[in-house]
Amino acid sequence: MFHYSQSDLYCEQTALADLAAHVGTPAYVYSSRAILENFNAYHDAFGDIPHRVCYAVKANSSLAVLGLLARAGAGFDIVSGGELFRVLKAGGDASRVVFSGVGKTADEVEYALEEGIHSFNCESEAELALIDAMASRRGVKAGFAIRVNPDVDPSTHPYIATGLSEHKFGIAISEAKAVYERAKTFSNLVAEGVSCHIGSQILDPSPILEAVDKILALAGSLRSEGHPIRHLDLGGGLGVAYHSGEKAPAIGAFIESLHARLRASGVCVMVEPGRSIVGPAGVLLTRVLYRKKSGDKEFVVVDAAMNDLIRPSLYRAHHEIIPLRKRDLPSITADVVGPVCETGDFLARDRHMANVLPGDFLAVCTAGAYGFVLSSNYNSRPRAPEVLVEGATYRVIRRREGFEDLIRGETLP
Ligand SMILES: *Cc1c(COP(=O)(O)O)cnc(C)c1O
Repeated sequence: MFHYSQSDLYCEQTALADLAAHVGTPAYVYSSRAILENFNAYHDAFGDIPHRVCYAVKANSSLAVLGLLARAGAGFDIVSGGELFRVLKAGGDASRVVFSGVGKTADEVEYALEEGIHSFNCESEAELALIDAMASRRGVKAGFAIRVNPDVDPSTHPYIATGLSEHKFGIAISEAKAVYERAKTFSNLVAEGVSCHIGSQILDPSPILEAVDKILALAGSLRSEGHPIRHLDLGGGLGVAYHSGEKAPAIGAFIESLHARLRASGVCVMVEPGRSIVGPAGVLLTRVLYRKKSGDKEFVVVDAAMNDLIRPSLYRAHHEIIPLRKRDLPSITADVVGPVCETGDFLARDRHMANVLPGDFLAVCTAGAYGFVLSSNYNSRPRAPEVLVEGATYRVIRRREGFEDLIRGETLP
């Protein structure tokens, strides 16, 4: 959805240099068509297998993005009460929401029960007891799935791997059956499903297949022992190509590779993709402020920083950085850095990139997931606006913050 026409970079039919000149920088820009295509790639690939695609809200929780996906028929995977609030504000349907997370509070459980979400992905027996007690007080039944830790290695960055027994997530698969059995004594809980999520940015799907086999076997055995188990939630985690040379698994082919096993299971299959739906659909636009040399080192100082996009600093993540208007100049090798007072504030290091001059606009690619949502006001920098492109038109879906936003809620005693 992002492509050059002559020397100008476009998002759909919108020239990004024009957009940047109007909206200013830094700014996040999302392609509505790319988001919908990625969502539909999941949806379509399931074909006639009963399924629900629950978009993982934490990847990009902008109301307009959630609204777009709600209208396309998405369910939602949330990890906090705040995310449920956003889903409902965006027109999402509570009955299509699953609630994940290792530390749900009583207030969050109360809110989710009040709104009537589909199911809780539970991560401990204490959590099951809490949900049962609160459901009993309200006189309702609460659906749950136990998030099983299948003990497989997703071969991804250690901060985003979740499915090994050493991680804080889920209940060990070896103990899961006993927990479902004990959960039968909770009269306000219904064992709706089994869930897992082994990590994020997974480029080789074979560990996911391994996990699916493990939870399919568990689900079959639970059903034969009288647990309802009406859905299997396979989690999210499919990776995207951050390097221009990298190959990410195609969504459709990945889901199709599961068909034979899933069809036989006879249950509704859920997935919780986040990054693979919104990641490639977004860029962060920034402007070159200065060029600077220190010894042999070249720096490109831009107006976006680690507070806007923390992935390079936090995960040493690579994002391609390309000009909005190509110039006929020899390329350079430089560090692309922001104005924040931290050595860790960089968007790229030793990057072979297009030659740029002060005033030029750049796009930091594949920034639609875990971009704006992880942004902060560090260094008292107002947060960037978000813009949604639809064909040749675009809308600012979140305005740029001003200085007043920085002190909202504060008092001077
Ligand atoms: C983060 C998360 C997801 C989404 O992961 P992606 O890698 O963005 O697809 C899905 N489910 C759970 C439980 C998560 O924590």
